[in-house]
Order: sequence, then C-alpha cells, then structure tokens
Amino acid sequence: MKPNLINSQLIGTPLQAWNHSRRLSDVQPIELQQLLPAGARAVVVAPHPDDEILGCGGLMQLLGQQQIPMLLVSVTAGTASNLGSHYWTPQRLSIARPLESAQALRRLGLDQSQYKWLHSGLPDTQVHLFEEELTQFLLSYLLPNDVLFTTWRSDGHSDHEATARACLAASQQLGVPLCEVPIWAWHWADPEDSRIPWERARKLHLDTWTQARKRHAIQAFASQIHPDPQADLPPVLPACALERLQQPFELLFV
Ligand SMILES: [Zn+2]
Repeated sequence: MKPNLINSQLIGTPLQAWNHSRRLSDVQPIELQQLLPAGARAVVVAPHPDDEILGCGGLMQLLGQQQIPMLLVSVTAGTASNLGSHYWTPQRLSIARPLESAQALRRLGLDQSQYKWLHSGLPDTQVHLFEEELTQFLLSYLLPNDVLFTTWRSDGHSDHEATARACLAASQQLGVPLCEVPIWAWHWADPEDSRIPWERARKLHLDTWTQARKRHAIQAFASQIHPDPQADLPPVLPACALERLQQPFELLFV
C-alpha cells in the first residue's frame, strides 16, 4: 500500500473537501420545531460515550434551551476504544468515558434536571449480538410522543449500525419518528457519495455560541482526543476527525 493511501485512510475525507461538496451544500435546513412537534420528548441513543455530543451536541443544547424533555441512552461504556493502551484499560475506560460524557453534558449547559440518562450496559463492539435485547430495552422506556435520534444505520462502525437497527425496530413497533446522524461517514464517504441518503438529509443550524459550547464539550473526552505517548498511539479522535464533527450545522437523516 502506498504511504499516501495509508495516510488518506488514517485522515479520511478532510473538512476542506466537504466544504466543496455540492450535495452537502444543497442539503435543506430544518428547524427544531420541525424535528420535534409540541409535547414531544427527544431520545438520544449513543452507542459509545461521545457519540451523543459529536453527533447531537448542538441539538441537545437547543433542546435544553427550549425546555424540551430529553432521555439519553448510553448503549455501551466504550471500553474497547483504546486498544493497545496500558493506561486506558477497559476497566479504567468503563469509569472514565461515562464521566467524560457527564462533564460534556455540563459543558453544553445542561443540568441533570433537564434530562434522564440510562445505561443499557452492552459490551463495546458487540452490540450486533444484542440487537433484539436493545430493542426491548428501548421499548420498555419509550413513550408514544418520543422522537428518536441515533447513529446512521450505514455509518461504517458495527456498533453504530447495530444501534441504529435496534432503534429502527423500536421506532417501527411504537410508530415514532427516527432521525439518524452520521459520525464515521464523515471519515470514509466521498463528498458527493451516492451511498449517503442525501434525499433524507437535513441541516440543523448551530449559531456561534452553540458551536463554541459543543467544541468545549468535546474537549471533555480526554481519553479520546489525546495521544498516548507511553504506548506510542495517536488520539482515537484526531484533530481532523473532530473538525468534521464541529461544523456550523448537524446533519440528520430524517
Ligand atoms: Zn461511537
């Protein structure tokens, strides 16, 4: 493999390329009120602690500002993220990553009265083995006026896709809307990629302060954004990945 190909696979599609995407620039905006009708509750289902902020950190701020009730479901504790690290062991991550999420939620300006938080306790990288259990778990908490938000069913990460399938099954059984959010697709997809469901895509605009708080919140994920010099490992989420997830909008597939 050529070095530049290895490099491009590590870095993924740069933000600059997305900034020139005709299809992305053509995506229509959507307002919070269109996503959530009056009286609705938002349910954000995150495969790993950080997906809720990376994908929906702006949305969650807007929900908080509008006093819209929120349920956050952390599917796994993200214990398999730092393979090869002697410091970030699964045991340490099982405590640190949910704490990082809690800190990030505070940095978004949310206090604990504004959301409920559930942990389904599934093993990281193994969600596909527990899809039916996750659907049943969700159904035991979902309400008829809920709107579900989760990662995209074709995001290119096994847990993200399995979580989306479980959410889709729950949303269909209960007849509630589901919105999907790309996370890893920003890395692997081409800016004009026909695999992206552009016809379902909408942009939720984030103002400057909302973007700033989201950036600040993302900095709470110390285990993910810093290199591990002891094991000579780069950050799980390098700066180029964070850039793609800190745009002045959040992309939703409705
Ligand atoms: Zn994830």
